[in-house]
This record gives sequence, structure tokens and C-alpha cells, in this order.
Amino acid sequence: MKITKGKEHVGEYHKSANSLRQWCKVCGGHLLTAHPEWKLVDVYAAVLPTLEFKPGVHVNYQNTVLHLHDGLPKQKDLPAEMGGSGVLLVD
Ligand SMILES: [Zn+2]
Repeated sequence: MKITKGKEHVGEYHKSANSLRQWCKVCGGHLLTAHPEWKLVDVYAAVLPTLEFKPGVHVNYQNTVLHLHDGLPKQKDLPAEMGGSGVLLVD
């Protein structure tokens, strides 16, 4: 993942060593969260206008307040590859 334009306007807040949140200092919009320990960057789909967003999984579903019946896998917390239990919930 590489920011190609406006990088000078990007702020960063280290919520933890594995959660580096970045936002636009001009408008305050959220851009992404980097998770270096997982070698993963979470880019908010809404900031990628040409992306055809196709969700693949729900995470932290044990905390849901809105049950979704969309046929997608529902992780109790996080996938094992991300340090979670990897447990899938039956919806
Ligand atoms: Zn902005």
C-alpha cells in the first residue's frame, strides 16, 4: 500500500504498537489503520472510489448488535493469522 498524493496532509496516531491510525489533516477524514505486527494495512473502502467492495468475512462478531444473515463467515474475534481464536460463529 502506497499513498501517491497528498502524503504531506496525513496525520498518524499510534493507538498501540500494532494500530497506527492515519487521517487527513485537511478534512479530518479517516484513511487507514496500519497493523505492522500483522503486516496488514486496513484501508477504509470508502476512500477508494474505484474499488468494487466485496466483503469476505466479519470479525469480532461476538460483539455484534446487528445480526446479519448474509452467508459470510463470522469470526468470533479475529482470524488465527491475526492473533485471534480463529473460531467461527454459527449465525
Ligand atoms: Zn481530506
